[in-house]
Amino acid sequence: MLAIRKVKAERGGISVDDVPVPELVHDTDVLVKVEAAGICGTDLLIYKWGDFARRMNLPTILGHEVSGVVEQVGSDVKGLRPGMRVSLESHLPCGVCYTCRRGWAHVCPHTRYPGVDFDGGFASFVVVPESVCWPVPQEVSPLQAAMMEPFGLAVHASLEGSGVSGLNVLISGCGPIGLMNVAAAKALGASKVIATDVHPLRLSAAAQLGADVCIDATDESVHDTVCSLLGERGVDVAIDYSGQAAALTATIKSITHGGELRLMGVPSHGISLNLEEWLFKGLVVRGLHGRRLFETWERSTSLLATGRVDLSSLVSHRLPLTATEDAFEMAISGQSLKILFEPNGSCV
Ligand SMILES: [Zn+2]
Ligand SMILES: [Zn+2]
Repeated sequence: MLAIRKVKAERGGISVDDVPVPELVHDTDVLVKVEAAGICGTDLLIYKWGDFARRMNLPTILGHEVSGVVEQVGSDVKGLRPGMRVSLESHLPCGVCYTCRRGWAHVCPHTRYPGVDFDGGFASFVVVPESVCWPVPQEVSPLQAAMMEPFGLAVHASLEGSGVSGLNVLISGCGPIGLMNVAAAKALGASKVIATDVHPLRLSAAAQLGADVCIDATDESVHDTVCSLLGERGVDVAIDYSGQAAALTATIKSITHGGELRLMGVPSHGISLNLEEWLFKGLVVRGLHGRRLFETWERSTSLLATGRVDLSSLVSHRLPLTATEDAFEMAISGQSLKILFEPNGSCV
């Protein structure tokens, strides 16, 4: 089968190779025939060979945002049978540490990731434990199912803390997950959703997904626009996907006293922020990572299956594995929304 592998410890350093179809190793393993698999920021970090990627043993097949159909199950698999469509959770927590036992498995410090720590889903087939397979109902298409892992981040960010229902929400940074968060926040009852970014393509997608106001942060002051809409009180909740100091500073200014800042975007290096403003405003700041296992999946599934959220418009490219180099360069350029590989040909 074809597979996209990171083979060299350098920028790029990936190749599309012919490798054997993987075999089940444990009795609890499942062989999944991949229908669609999305490129995400983590894959770009691996492509650029950022610090995070250096833990990898090469070669490794990339890809952790995956939908597919169960092809074969191990003898101890309990809830899956061949033919069922699944979407894959990308966090494989240890299950036994203090964090996991407190119910915080999504931030387990011993988490292993497909496509990083073991072979992932940019291939015709992938082997994963049953524990990370989420069965997907018929109403959710294979393309949408491949986006459930990132969509889960957006749903998680919308549900934590005071949630979004009846609140004014600022989404800072409209890459694919920020855009998914626009749709999730609207579907979960946010009052006004204000979206900011610097790419016109992303801002028009945000408007299409239901953002009430879109701010181009290149030439518009986020704080001034928020004030003109809501007065001095600002937004109740801001969710940051940018991980950039300048954007965070503008965002913090725009939050009401006693409001919430939820951090999703991972800064690429240390950034300095004025904590004084946080302190005097009495802001609640939450660091968020992953999705709750598996409460968030349940909520995400119902939003998609009922049609209250439709992520189809986010798919800007559907490509074969052989288009790897173009796909990665396009994702880095920001001139795309969600790029999905279809390793076994068109899945819809
Ligand atoms: Zn991802
Ligand atoms: Zn753990």
